[in-house]
Amino acid sequence: MPARYTLGIDIGGTTTSLAVVDAQNHVAREKRFPTNPEAGFEGVLRRIIEAAAPALERYPCAAIGVAVAAHVDLRTGILVTSPNLGFENVPLGAILQEEFSVPAVVENDVNAAAFGEYLATPMAREPLCAVFVGTGVGGGLIVDGDIFHGADGFAAEIGHVPVVAQAGERCGCGQRGCVEAYAGGPAIVRRASARCRGKATFDDVDAVVRAAEAGDRGSADVLEEAAAYLGVALAAAVNLLNPGTLVIGGGVARAWPALSERALERMKRSALPASLAHLAIRGALLGERAGVIGAAALARKSPASGPPGSRRTP
Ligand SMILES: [Zn+2]
Repeated sequence: MPARYTLGIDIGGTTTSLAVVDAQNHVAREKRFPTNPEAGFEGVLRRIIEAAAPALERYPCAAIGVAVAAHVDLRTGILVTSPNLGFENVPLGAILQEEFSVPAVVENDVNAAAFGEYLATPMAREPLCAVFVGTGVGGGLIVDGDIFHGADGFAAEIGHVPVVAQAGERCGCGQRGCVEAYAGGPAIVRRASARCRGKATFDDVDAVVRAAEAGDRGSADVLEEAAAYLGVALAAAVNLLNPGTLVIGGGVARAWPALSERALERMKRSALPASLAHLAIRGALLGERAGVIGAAALARKSPASGPPGSRRTP
């Protein structure tokens, strides 16, 4: 009898999550622990294997899906590069496949999270565009029930949509004026601290939100600017893609619930009315579980996880 479950693994810069997921995308068992990338790839891998082994023993899984904060070669399952983790050219899929003797697929974490949110929305109008505002501003696009990757795997990089044409803030990608350089969590913290002129610095977006609520003008301005620039980028996405569904989530959106509302107001001022007419907009439903559930579902639909005989030879 084929295994009912697949195992999802979501390796983020801060936290790694594992979840055993059934065919209805319900989580049967899950575990979270700090990724601790300073331990190097071997250390991170050892921790994942230690956590996965008992789960796989209790719940036999047909396949493993890995979501990782990295650029991934989808064909080979190689983690090509990850600025967040500091790893390069790691054959992650092959290593897990060898370790657990089941097929393993590897996907970018934001794409996997977008796929998870897509599955959480029965009858979602497509294309579905998911935008996650957290440390970075990430996007994923689902077309015809599948992740749209673009030619080289970089489609839907909404965080790097330029929203300021000249003398914009420096972005982690090396360019200037990207929306991530205004609306990403570290950008908000840095910009709010700079506005304080040495009076205070902020540890996280929560602290900026508290200061704004307590009447700090600079913090409030920085948050409003983040929402406005995000709205401009969302308008660009809507005009370019004409999505049927727009999903907004991520840690910054949770820390400052008004972000989505303000950004959507701004988006509606700039997007084509015809593209907005039937656009369904909703908040992310799965929270931090989106990536791990999406990864497990991708493992299930991968041709490699089908019954023996249906596997493709590379
Ligand atoms: Zn950028």
